[in-house]
Amino acid sequence: MINRFGEESGKLGFGLMRLPRLESGEFDKEQIKQMIDTFLDAGFTYFDTAFVYPGSEEVMKECLIDRHPREQYTVATKLHAAMRGLSEEEAKKEFETSLERTGAGYFDYYLLHSLTDENYTKYEEYGIWEFVKQKKAEGKIRHMGFSFHGSPELLEKLLTEHPEVEFVQLQINYADWDDADVQSGRNYEIVRRFGKPVVVMEPVKGGTLADPIPAVKKILSEANPEASYASWAIRFVASHEGLLAVLSGMSTLDQVKDNTTFMKNFVPLDENEKEAIRKAQKALKEVELIPCTACRYCTGGCPMEISIPDIFAARNKQLALNDNRRAARMYKEATEGKGLASECIQCGQCESVCPQGLPIIELLKEAAENLE
Ligand code: SF4
Ligand code: SF4
Repeated sequence: MINRFGEESGKLGFGLMRLPRLESGEFDKEQIKQMIDTFLDAGFTYFDTAFVYPGSEEVMKECLIDRHPREQYTVATKLHAAMRGLSEEEAKKEFETSLERTGAGYFDYYLLHSLTDENYTKYEEYGIWEFVKQKKAEGKIRHMGFSFHGSPELLEKLLTEHPEVEFVQLQINYADWDDADVQSGRNYEIVRRFGKPVVVMEPVKGGTLADPIPAVKKILSEANPEASYASWAIRFVASHEGLLAVLSGMSTLDQVKDNTTFMKNFVPLDENEKEAIRKAQKALKEVELIPCTACRYCTGGCPMEISIPDIFAARNKQLALNDNRRAARMYKEATEGKGLASECIQCGQCESVCPQGLPIIELLKEAAENLE
C-alpha cells in the first residue's frame, strides 16, 4: 500500500469501532480528528469501519474523508447480511447507505461481514457474493474480501468456492492463537496456503491484552519493562508474514501515539520475546474469562438496552482478580440508566449477531447472580 508521501505504508490499520466519546455520549470528534491526523502523519493509510458500527461511518466522513484528499488513504467497510429479520433488499441496501454515510465515493476494501458456520448460508441465499462482485465490476469497490469467525473447515470451503476473494480478515492474537473455538493459528495458515493476504482484527482482543491479567503483566514486564502490553500484542501479530493490515481499534490519542511509534519502525519479536509470549499464553489458559471482544454488535438491537460487553468486563474483573469491589463498581457504571443483567428477556437477538458465538443469555444470568 502506498501512503500519502508516496512511500510503502506500514501495516497498522485504524479500526473505527471503539472511538472515544464525551460524557454526553456523543463522539469526541476533536480528539478523533487529532487521532486520525497523527495516524496519517506517521505514514499509515488503512481505515476500517462497518455498516453495523453505530455512528462510525458518519464519523469517518466528518473526521477523515471531508478533511483529507481521498487518494491519500484507503477505506474498508462491510456488509452484514445475517442480522435477525433482515431481508435481502435491506442487506443489499447497506452498500448504498455506507457510500452515503461515508461520502467515500468508492471503497478500497469491501467485506462480507463476520461469516460463521451458523450464518454463512444467508450470504449465499441473498446472493451477496455476486452482488459485491457486481459492485466491483462497476468500479465502486477495488478489492473484495470477507471477515471470518468460523471453523477452519468452513474457511477452506469458502476459499475454494470463491476464488474471487482477494483478502480475508481474521481474528488473530496471542490469546486465541490455539484457542479451540477461535483457532487463529489454523485459520491463518489456511488463508496463507490459498495465497491471500490477511487483515488482522482483534490483535489486542478488544483491549483485554492491553490490560491483561496480573500473571501475564508480570511475565511481559520482566521481559521488557518499557514496552506497553498492547505493543506486545500487536507486535506478536505483526511478526507474521503476508499481512495487509493489523487493525487496532484505537480509543485515545495516546494509544494512536503508542501504536504508530512502535509500528513505524517495526521490529519483529526476537526469540526471547517469543518465549515470553509462550509463557503468557500458558498463564492465560489457567484463568477462564468470558472471551468477549467488546465489538458491541450485540448492543444496538437489545430491547432492554443492556450494555452486554461492559457487564462482561465487570464479570471478567471479578473472575481474573477476585476483586469484588472493583467489579461491583464497574457493574454499577455499566448498568447506570441502562438494563440490568437480570432484565434480559431472552429474545436471542444478541446471540444471533455475536461473532464469538457466546451464550450471552446464560452468561448474563451468571453475571446477575454474582454482581447484583
Ligand atoms: S437476549 Fe437479553 S441481552 Fe440479548 S438482546 Fe435479548 S434482552 Fe438483550
Ligand atoms: S458479547 Fe459478542 S457481540 Fe457482544 S460485544 Fe461481546 S463479542 Fe461482541
